[in-house]
Formats: sequence, structure tokens, C-alpha cells
Amino acid sequence: MPDGPKPIRTTCAYCGVGCGILASPRADGTAVIAGDPDHPANFGRICSKGAALGETLSLDDRLLHPLINGKRTDWDGALDLVAEKFAATVAEHGPDSVAFYVSGQCLTEDYYVANKLMKGYFGSANIDTNSRLCMASSVAGHKRAFGSDTVPGSYADIDQADLVVLVGSNLAWCHPVMHQRLLAAREARGTRIVVIDPRETTSCDGADLHLALAPGSDVALFNGLLAHLADTGRLNDAYIATHTNGFAAALQAARATDAAAITGLPPAQITAFHELFGARSRVVTIYSQGVNQSSAGTDKVNAIINCHLATGRIGQPGMGPFSVTGQPNAMGGREVGGLANMLAAHMDLDNASHRRIVRDFWQSPRIAEKPGLKAVDLFRAVGAGKVKALWIMATNPVDSLPDADAVRAAIASCPFVVVSDVVRHTDTTALAHVLLPAAAWGEKDGTVTNSERRISRQRAFLPMPGEARPDWWQIAEVGKRLGYEAAFSYANAAEIFAEHAALSAAENAGTRDFDIGACADITTASYDALAPFQWPQPAGTTPAETRFFANGKFFTPDRRGRFIPTQYRAPASARSAAQPLLLNTGRIRDQWHTMTRTGKTPRLMGHIGEPFLEVHPDDAARHGLTDAGLARVSNDLGAVILRVVVTPRQQPGSLFAPMHWTDQLAANARIDRLMHPNTDPVSGQPELKLSPVAVAPFAAAWYGFVVSAARPGPASDYWALAPAKSGWRAELADARTPDDWTAYARDLLGSEDAELLAYHDQRRGEHRFAAFAGDRCLGALFVGPEPVAVARGWAAGWLEAPQPDRLRLLAGRPGAGAVDRGAIVCACFDVGRNQIIGARASGCATVTAIGAALSAGTNCGSCRPEIARIIDALALPQTG
Ligand code: SF4
Repeated sequence: MPDGPKPIRTTCAYCGVGCGILASPRADGTAVIAGDPDHPANFGRICSKGAALGETLSLDDRLLHPLINGKRTDWDGALDLVAEKFAATVAEHGPDSVAFYVSGQCLTEDYYVANKLMKGYFGSANIDTNSRLCMASSVAGHKRAFGSDTVPGSYADIDQADLVVLVGSNLAWCHPVMHQRLLAAREARGTRIVVIDPRETTSCDGADLHLALAPGSDVALFNGLLAHLADTGRLNDAYIATHTNGFAAALQAARATDAAAITGLPPAQITAFHELFGARSRVVTIYSQGVNQSSAGTDKVNAIINCHLATGRIGQPGMGPFSVTGQPNAMGGREVGGLANMLAAHMDLDNASHRRIVRDFWQSPRIAEKPGLKAVDLFRAVGAGKVKALWIMATNPVDSLPDADAVRAAIASCPFVVVSDVVRHTDTTALAHVLLPAAAWGEKDGTVTNSERRISRQRAFLPMPGEARPDWWQIAEVGKRLGYEAAFSYANAAEIFAEHAALSAAENAGTRDFDIGACADITTASYDALAPFQWPQPAGTTPAETRFFANGKFFTPDRRGRFIPTQYRAPASARSAAQPLLLNTGRIRDQWHTMTRTGKTPRLMGHIGEPFLEVHPDDAARHGLTDAGLARVSNDLGAVILRVVVTPRQQPGSLFAPMHWTDQLAANARIDRLMHPNTDPVSGQPELKLSPVAVAPFAAAWYGFVVSAARPGPASDYWALAPAKSGWRAELADARTPDDWTAYARDLLGSEDAELLAYHDQRRGEHRFAAFAGDRCLGALFVGPEPVAVARGWAAGWLEAPQPDRLRLLAGRPGAGAVDRGAIVCACFDVGRNQIIGARASGCATVTAIGAALSAGTNCGSCRPEIARIIDALALPQTG
């Protein structure tokens, strides 16, 4: 940390680990970011994304003023219009004709006010959230088994477990600090690790067992485990008898499952898993999107919980089922009832007594009487004209929902669309009638709750730029304009949090899991100083590490846990002759959601800079795909074009593509165009992990690579744009060859008046251009009939070189003495693949030795598995 004022304690903006951050703002608008050593979620560790937060704070493409139909207005003009349109729509078409679609990026206070306005004042439950896409199946599974949406354990259980089972979770990339904690536990106490995932992900590196089961077959695997536990005398009969109901029916359903046939796993692997699970009592089963994002997601959750209930492995140190959330405040959203089927403070919409408690507490004129529309159905209703006024906050549904083109068309057809966002240009803001500038991370105050129920403060350390305002303020202002002055006159986030805490305690007395009544009278000063704490914390108690169900008491009417009989159901859509492959989607290590922040940093974009498709070598051969070539991936919903990565880590018959790229950074890579809008019947969560597709090579007439000081606007069939240190870089390809390469290059590089050097080899179809203004390189374009073999980082480096070597740049080769670091592996220390290979050649044979030589892998550790893989690959015996 630099000298100067004390850093501000806040919380990371990204995943559900909820790491504490120390932020020290700098005069240039950036900030120095470090992990908070005192935060119990991370004890000072942060991952590559968290470490780069300070580079995402620029005001480039920031939405700074309210806009109506693209024209600047003031807040009064924008808010008056929003209130007027929503009121008129409700008056004419009823409360269910309006909807909010919010986000796990919202702070709890934002979420609370949005939920209050929709459910208590409009009288509709049409408020849903992108958390529906993330963990709604876990919520539904918890409620079925526990009678409440309760995550029983804490991160400390990972430290104390003898076995950790990762199901549908690439923890190493998606929750890196938690994964580092798991690896530390393995180091310290020999914790065994099992990964259950159709893909061989980075989380498999170093695991004791990887079960590459058939996509969507998790229920069968855990049913088989339950039957095995029963057959081998490993049940906790006393716990089952004293604390649960429904075991016999669950076991009967489990016994009816042929796990080996359905999962496709070798029996020996299944036996190995059974032995690992059966022989250890301290077992934590961590699950994530691979479980939740499924048309059988809720059953998968309950099949896992059944095994923990049957062994009594819940509520005790080092054991329990553990749903990890994707987003920073998915849990906070659940607490305030941000899902369309929930009420505030973990109360139920279909419970008349709960509806009365909430309405009395709010003193509201009405309360929603029935669940609202869940995300997929909500946008169907928008498309069908049933929802006529829609307010989207802090999310980008045009890219993140399944059947994304239909969602785009639905929003485009909606008579009145409001979008509150930080960013001016997204695929969703393009469709807004009213754009409201929101406060960004670093500027807003509130709380978030992480995956272990720990509530932490997010604190502002930067002023709000332009006319940006917090989401809660925007919603409250609309509430006041609708005539509810008293209900929405909050002075600050602290007042909202106090109200939220008081509601959690209303007529609770231990009947509901969520109770933070201790904060009901919190002052602004105490809120400002609030230290991270786990809920529950009822009135009169002090903060403590909490673990639910230690006493065997659940929140069902008879206080017993419930076994749920689960039967395997095949995924909702299946391969066919026309669409013979299953496409899986997910996150990559250094990107977050639709890249509006992580896509701004060259460091993070240096890890993986373009959208890709992982293909097994057999499928690549069968479908004519080549490594580094391009593939057209299509089905009945649409088509995308992606860079091919041929890898045996992908299961034959299955493909993987990242979820992140949008029309802002790629020509045609919005992967959710291809995902069918099939949902789990209980949770409403869409099956984003599986969609049948066809693949074919994209017949490119040429490939290109461009670096440019100005943002290029490519018009080719394929392009993927990424920021570089002093400009931009882009991959290009097209099915047609331009008539005039020089005109194309000038257009692309924006170099009408610049000096343009050119090299052409017409016979080989190679063309290279470099544009200069005096001694400054404006950009360079490299074109060839195959993917262009130019060192990307080296070429981008010329944009900042004081006196570029023109001929060397035009030759496209670094030459002797020049450094080409290769693709970035360690984002924290900006270390490239070629540097790691060089260090290995110099004798660094371990990850630790590489770290000592280059620092790579010594900060967040997220890249350590990748470094290990590079070392392993170099150690492979040469053949031929
Ligand atoms: Fe942020 Fe990384 Fe921590 Fe997740 S693991 S909260 S992304 S620093």
C-alpha cells in the first residue's frame, strides 16, 4: 500500500466468495487494490480478477447522465417519465403488466427497495433476477429439504474436511480464492478431492479422482451413492430416525437407478468414489452451476443433500452440502426476496401469515398474492406483450438468458423499457427507452452476502461521476413519485439496511432462519463501521461463526429434515442426427459475466483474448475442425463463430464455449443464442449447460490480426476485439476477400492521412500493413490464408514503442533479442507462456521454482495449475 490515507475496506465486485478488499484510490482515478488480511472470507488473498479491479474504474463508455430515447435529460425528467409510464400501465393493464429484472450485482439495499416497491406497492411479484440463472435450483433444493433456503456451513468447513467433492464446479477458475483454501487444506491435512464434471477442468489438476460423467447425469450418480451407503452399513440410522422424514422413499428411488449405465462411468471409478465418500465422515460437497443450471437442477441438489442427511454429515465441522453462488450478492438477493417466488426476509409468498407480516411491517397498500414470473417466463411474457413496462437493473439479459435472440426481440417489442446501468453501450442498453446512470463498484455504499452467509460492507472510495446515482435511490425516487413518500424516503443505505434487519426479526422468534435483528437499530456510524458477520444474528446476540442444523432442527413444520426421492430425468433436449453434439457453457478464469469491466483490462484480456470452442480431437477430426481454425456452431436457434481449441480434456460428443462474449467485443459469439430455454420445473432455472448443436469449419478466405491505437471497427464475418496497453488488438477472418487490401487496411486502421507501409505476397495470399504518424505507430494489419502466426503481445507492444522498427514490424517477426512473452498466464504479474517455457528451459522444474524466478503464481495462485500443466507438457517424452 502506498503512503497516504488509510485504504478503504470494501468487498470484491465479482464472485460469491465475497473477498474483502483494501482499496486505495489514486489521483488518476485508478486504485491500488489488495486483499484484506482481516476479512474472514479470504484473509488477504484475492484472485486475478479481484487484483485487477483498480484497472476497471475508468470512465470510458460510462453512462453519466439520464437519457430518454438517446437524448440527455435531467433526473426529474427521467424519473417522472418512469413513474408516469409504470403507473399508467398498472392502471390500464393491472399490476402484472409491469416487471423488474434485477441482478446479483445489486447491493442488498438496492434489492430491498426494488422488492418492496414491486411486491408491496405495485402489488405484483414480477421481480426476478439474473440469480435465477445462477442458483435458483439450490434455493429450491434447500427449501424442499430444510424448509428454508439455508446454506448450512462455512468456508471453515473446507479447512476441516477430509474429503471435498466438487460437483459441477470449476472452483479453480470460478471461485479461485476458495480453491486456494482447498489446496491449502490438502497440503495441511491431506484432504482428498473428487471432481464430478463432464469436462476435465483446471479444478481436476491435483484431484484424487475425476468422474467425467455423462452431461446431466448427476442425480443417477448420487442415487447410486445413497444406495451404496445403505448397502454397506454407512448410514447414520440414529440421525435418520431422530431428525428426518422420508428416507425409505428416497432410498427406494435411489435403488431404482442404474448409476453406471446412466452416468457412463467405469464401475471402478464409481466404486472408488463410493469408498472415498463412505469411509470419511468429514465430507463437504461443493456444488455450483453444473448442478444448478439444469432442467433437473433441483433434483440434483436434493440427491446430494439426501446423501448428507443419510449420514448425518450436516451442521458439524468439516461436513455438509455447500452451494457456492456465482455472484457477489446472490445471497443478499435471496434475503430480501429478490426472486419472483419469494417474499422478503426468507418469508414465503404462498404463506398468508408471512404476507400479512410483511404488509403490516411495510404499512403497504397491498401485497403480491401469488408468485411472479421467473426470468425465462418473464421475458416470454414481455415478448407476448403481457408485460408492457420493464425496468432492467445492473444486468444484460440480451446476452445472458437462453434463446438470447428471442429475448432481444422481446425487449425490442416492449412498449416501455428502462435500463439502469453503469455502462453506456451494452447489447441491452441499446434497447432502452430510458437509460439511468447507476453508481459503480467503488462508488456505492451498501452490503453484500457471500456464499457462507457472511454480510460485508461495500464502501465507496470514489465520488459518483457525472449524474450517476445508486440503484436504491433511483427506485425510491420513483416510489415517491407514485405517492409513497413515507415508505421510500431513505436518507442513505444505512436506513434501508436497518429496515431490512428489522423486518427479518418481525414475528420471527426462531421460526425463520434469516434473522439479523441485532442490526435493526443500527446507526449510520455503526453501519459505516460494520465488520463482516455471518447471519443469523438475532437481537441481543453478538457476531459469531454460525453453522445451521447442528442441533438437528430444521425449518420444516415438524423441524425434521426431508429426504426427497429423486429419479433421473434425461436433459430436456437431446442430440440428433442434425445436431449431434452437446454444447456446454461456463466461465473462464479472468473474465466476469458480459465483460463490461474485466474486458477493459489488457492484463485480463491477455489470458484468453477471444471466444473459443473446446473440441475433443475425435470430434474435431469427424467434423473437419482444426486447432486454431474457426468453427461455425449452430442449431435451430442461431449460429456463432468461434476459435477452435482441440483438447482431450473435452469429452467426446461435447463442446465447451465461454459465456462472456457479447456484440461489443465480438462479431458473433453470444453463446446463449444457442441455449434452449428449457427450465427446471421446480426452480425455473434454465439449462444453460447443455444444448444440442452442429459444428462445421468456417470457410475463411483469409485470416487477419490487427493492432491499432484507435478502436478498430472491423466489418468481417469474424472479429474479436480486446484492449491492448496502448490501443486495441483484434482477430479477424472473412469468407470473402476484399477487392482492395490497401483500402481495407486504411479503413480498418483509421489511417486515411497516415503513412502506410505495405508488403504483399499475392501468390501466398499474404498482406501486411503498418501505419505511422511520424515516429508513432498507429497500427498494423497482418493477413494470410491461415491463422496468422504473429506474436500478439509483441505486435501490440509497437503501439507504445517510441521509435518503432518499421521493417521488423512489417515482417511480423520479433527477431533476435526481442521479447515475445506469449499469452498471459499469470495475470497478477503479467507473465506470459513463453517466459514460463524459458524459465523451465533454464532449470525451473516446479511451480514453486517458476514462482521464485518470475513471481508467476505467487499472488492469487489461480494460474498455478496452468503453470503446472505447461511444465508437465514440456516433460512429455518426444515421439517420432
Ligand atoms: Fe473477487 Fe476473486 Fe475473491 Fe471471487 S475469488 S471474490 S473474484 S477476489
